[in-house]
Amino acid sequence: MADEAAQCIFCRIIAGEMESRKVYEDERAFACLDIRPGVKGHTLLMPKEHYPILPTLPQKEFEHLFGLLPTLLSALGGALGKTGANVFIANGAAAGQQSPHFLMHLLPREPMDSLNLYALRGEGALREHDELLPVLRQKLGKPGASSAARPPHLSNVDGETLFSEGGVVCVSPARPLVPGHLVLYPAEHAAFASLPKESSSNLFRAGTTLASLIFQLRSAQGTNLILKTGNADDNPGGFTALHVIPRTADDGLRLQWEPREMDLTPIAQQVSAMMPVREEKKVLKTITFREPMRIGGAPAPVTAREEIAAAIRNVQSVY
Ligand SMILES: [Zn+2]
Repeated sequence: MADEAAQCIFCRIIAGEMESRKVYEDERAFACLDIRPGVKGHTLLMPKEHYPILPTLPQKEFEHLFGLLPTLLSALGGALGKTGANVFIANGAAAGQQSPHFLMHLLPREPMDSLNLYALRGEGALREHDELLPVLRQKLGKPGASSAARPPHLSNVDGETLFSEGGVVCVSPARPLVPGHLVLYPAEHAAFASLPKESSSNLFRAGTTLASLIFQLRSAQGTNLILKTGNADDNPGGFTALHVIPRTADDGLRLQWEPREMDLTPIAQQVSAMMPVREEKKVLKTITFREPMRIGGAPAPVTAREEIAAAIRNVQSVY
């Protein structure tokens, strides 16, 4: 891993050894504009530590990165006046993974932006998908789970509910893109940007688990996780949905954008200005308590409360 990291272009960017148009950074996460953007504001979000693929992310990194998504997508959309967003994750070369460092693509979206890759409805995969369903029902289903168990805002979604728990509803779509294509919806009826960070990381946790299961069931060569949220031509209802798509090298799907020429400098400035300020860790002067003075064996008339107040005044005066 150390060797791999030493040669990794993204590790070098994070370390500041190579230039990038950074738009966000905190203790564990780093985000910069993609130098080959598919849309205006196309951003790469990655852990600072080197992990090659999503399933290798430790839980702490996972929760932090996916918990950040509602805030970062909202800031990105706000900065550029966009109405929606996609998050694109590729695991494996067959799914379009080009980086040795796990990262996700954040794609701000709006109607008529001509990036219409994510209709994510198929025509020819039904028979093979139907053959997988009994296994999926058995592995994922709960007795009594049905479309009736869905929250009301998802009642018109076409497909079969496979499970609904932990704030996530899993649907086998009526028109899968490929055999094994599943869709996860947050049970909350809310804009993705206003979801608590736990809901976002739960959604992606469920997606990652499902992706591994389907990868094995289908003997796939890779998987894509694609989040659709907000208004865009390929998401007319504006629903938030996480698509789990098993991939093979010869499946003929085209889910990757053509890079476009654009001047990234003003975009980076615009986006950075709206991003949450990273939490600086101030090194506070350690608060210590004096030994209570003892005069003639009796404790000094200094209460703990007064000691704390004095110590805080002392610390504040440093700043
Ligand atoms: Zn790396």
